[in-house]
Amino acid sequence: MNKSSTRCVCVPGPVIVGAGPSGLAVAACLKERGVPSTVLERSNCIASLWQLKTYDRLRLHLPKQFCELPLMGFPTEFPTYPSKQQFIDYLEKYAEKFDVRPRFNETVSHAEFDQVLGFWRVRTVGPKVEETEYVCRWVVVATGENAEAVVPEIEGMGEFGSDIRHTSLYKSGEEFTGKRVLVVGCGNSGMEVCLDLCNHSAKPSLVVRDTVHILPREMLGKSTFGLSMWLLKWLPMRLVDRFLLVVSRLMLGDTARLGLERPQLGPLELKNLSGKTPVLDVGTLARIKSGDVKVCPGIKRLKRHSVVFVNGKTENFDAIILATGYKSNVPSWLKEGDMFSEKDGLPRRPFPNGWKGECGLYAVGFTKRGILGASIDAKRIAEDIERCWKAEAKHSMAFARSLLPLSSP
Ligand SMILES: Cc1cc2nc3c(=O)[nH]c(=O)nc-3n(C[C@H](O)[C@H](O)[C@H](O)COP(=O)(O)OP(=O)(O)OC[C@H]3O[C@@H](n4cnc5c(N)ncnc54)[C@H](O)[C@@H]3O)c2cc1C
Repeated sequence: MNKSSTRCVCVPGPVIVGAGPSGLAVAACLKERGVPSTVLERSNCIASLWQLKTYDRLRLHLPKQFCELPLMGFPTEFPTYPSKQQFIDYLEKYAEKFDVRPRFNETVSHAEFDQVLGFWRVRTVGPKVEETEYVCRWVVVATGENAEAVVPEIEGMGEFGSDIRHTSLYKSGEEFTGKRVLVVGCGNSGMEVCLDLCNHSAKPSLVVRDTVHILPREMLGKSTFGLSMWLLKWLPMRLVDRFLLVVSRLMLGDTARLGLERPQLGPLELKNLSGKTPVLDVGTLARIKSGDVKVCPGIKRLKRHSVVFVNGKTENFDAIILATGYKSNVPSWLKEGDMFSEKDGLPRRPFPNGWKGECGLYAVGFTKRGILGASIDAKRIAEDIERCWKAEAKHSMAFARSLLPLSSP
């Protein structure tokens, strides 16, 4: 990159990287406190994960009261589990209400704290390969736990010769009608894609390699998530887990008999220790029971239009959908050694202490607790930045301007 093509922009408040729900929440909370911010987003819209990378039938997995951003609730007429489009509409209105206007098509490629200057330098590249450097006092990382699709290396992938795609590129079962489709991964997405394929008269099979907790989405007339949160106020986690497993057994039967073994640890304990989310069943289990969805063991290798499983059996398939999850991309662009782990791109310190790093660095939405966790982070970050902003913003900007020949945004 030719240095002379770099535009330098000095911004008064924090730079927020990512315009998903987390980035919007921080920008709104800051706005409410009178602190301006600059939101940088690599795609051409807010909430790009929801708008561009999710399937049509998606609804919020958790009831709406657990998915609200700070300062603005969902419209009362929204159902308990809003659809993807309703959630996007809500986020658009949210951005409008708090006048959050991200700079779209700007991918952050490098962010580093300049020890000499005492400021962050955040570099972005746009579609025309023009580079911009933002100089700021604070950086809020809001690029999400789901920034990049995880695509596993499977032997023989090149030989298969038919459609292999990640769930981020799956929209609807419509294009798979009548086809034999192998879905790899039995998290919430994999299970729901199987159901969608059934509803479009495709023939899905589901690869289940690991143990998995499947819980009914609702129990005793309440959402399983809400009920768990309520019980945790009074009872230890292990007891709540026991309760969830007993009720699940009564409602769903023994999932192990269907090839879906449960982990040793209970669902909440497992989530707490490893971040692994239990599957909230929205009807797939009934389709597995009826034989509409076939459960398969792990894949050994792929051959032309067929899959060899670890049990030695071979079956033909027309397509493979990889419901193999996502990962953070923070280590690829944030140059710092303390706050984020190089290994998984998540804050090293566990919830609730992962939101604040050194030198004005913050993280929002990396708690493995969905939008609820992001909202908690966002409020804390805005409060913290406001405190510093009041104390030092004016002084810092004067200092920066005296050191660099910067242009204003
Ligand atoms: C299928 C699915 C269903 C889900 N359902 C729920 C649910 O019901 N309830 C719930 O609480 N959570 C749910 N989640 C989790 C969900 O991802 C989060 O709750 C929410 O989207 C997180 O918001 P975020 O802003 O942290 O991350 P994201 O929504 O991923 O937003 C991050 C943004 O950062 C941008 N970005 C990334 N890298 C860069 C870069 N280098 N430069 C500039 N911009 C960048 C991305 O383009 C993106 O727009 C679901 C996730 C998936 C995949």
